[in-house]
Amino acid sequence: TSSHAALVIIGTGMAGVGLARALRRLGDQRSITLVSADSGDDYSKPLLSTGFAKGLVPEQLAQRSATDLGEELNAQMVIHTQVTALDVDNQTILLEGGMVLGYDTLVLATGAAPRVPFSIEPSVAPRCFTINDLDDYRRFHTALGQGPARVAIVGAGLVGCEFANDLHAGGHRVSLIAPEGTLLPRLLPPPLGNALGDAFSEAGIHLHLARSIDSIAAESGEDIVLRLDNGDAVSADLVLMATGLVPRTALAESADLNVSPGGIVVDRQLRTSHPNIHALGDAACVDGVNAMYVQPLQASVKALAATLSGAPTPVSFGAWPVVVKTPLLPVVAYPPTNTPEHWRIEGEGGDISALAENKDGRLIGFALTGGCVRRKVELSRAAPALLG
Ligand code: FAD
Repeated sequence: TSSHAALVIIGTGMAGVGLARALRRLGDQRSITLVSADSGDDYSKPLLSTGFAKGLVPEQLAQRSATDLGEELNAQMVIHTQVTALDVDNQTILLEGGMVLGYDTLVLATGAAPRVPFSIEPSVAPRCFTINDLDDYRRFHTALGQGPARVAIVGAGLVGCEFANDLHAGGHRVSLIAPEGTLLPRLLPPPLGNALGDAFSEAGIHLHLARSIDSIAAESGEDIVLRLDNGDAVSADLVLMATGLVPRTALAESADLNVSPGGIVVDRQLRTSHPNIHALGDAACVDGVNAMYVQPLQASVKALAATLSGAPTPVSFGAWPVVVKTPLLPVVAYPPTNTPEHWRIEGEGGDISALAENKDGRLIGFALTGGCVRRKVELSRAAPALLG
């Protein structure tokens, strides 16, 4: 079986859905098919790490079902279906199950996949989770059950810290284990990472930093036990792996499109190395930058919708800081792209500002905690654009 659409978008995350929506807003009438490996429900991924504090069930996080989304966008939705191959010469994609779908224009909005850096034993695998879409969230939510659970989170990045704060606020007992010595190591210089760590510890989140995991195994009946390199043991009911995300480039790679470790290589017009194929969102590396957060994605959506509607529009990214959703200690960070000459760090307790300066004393990035987050707008104005 085969069919054809003028525009095929692979991915129904913020990038894929956002693009279809932006095109329809511009009055674009072409036939659109959206294909997704997941449920295709319309949801906001950033809200996944805020649901436990608010006591939300997964269904409250879905803004629209895939069916309603298809109607809204006047688009065909192909859901729970993996795209397994891309044939650039014939302008077709192959879907799991054998269906072939032709396109005039193809957009890769395939996002990024969780990376789990060690193998998990089959006996504990059913209780080890990653959460990277609403389907994952549903599974984790079900496993968590009704009462308070002990959750061991592995990873001290944005996803690990946000879930630690949110699960704690939802009444669960949280341990966080990471090889780095401080929280949010890629966003915050150590004094600010320590301030967040203090806020977490004071709230009762158990931190095991600068520790690697020797083993994760089911022990003494129901417990999962994580054995650490210093001999400590952490017992848990569930494990949440928040150990990084890697852009999904496999399809592009298999079709010989240019890819880099940062994602599918695209220019400022979000064009891949092949005509008629574009990429955006967490999957794409735009002129050397893959920011993997919402604001650059939204700028890309807007630019690509204009380009596909006939007004070629290069994208640019401003100095848009990341707002980390850790209410125990608010954090805002705009990490410098190059190693700074030095960090100018001021403040005390949880209220700290850190300005990254180059050798000429120019501001190239910043990080703020607690009350200092109010400096966000002023510092964003002074910092260089992410992609100017
Ligand atoms: P995704 O949402 O990952 O969508 C990818 C889509 O591609 C999915 O539909 C998937 O099924 C589909 N797909 C992939 N491969 C295939 C295939 N072969 N066949 C078929 N379908 C395929 N950013 C912020 O700016 N602020 C925040 O507060 C924030 N909070 C976050 C909290 C969490 C817990 C996480 C995980 C991320 C957060 N982010 C945040 C980052 C932000 O959510 C992402 O940058 C954004 O959602 C990426 O959207 P996307 O559409 O590129 O990818």
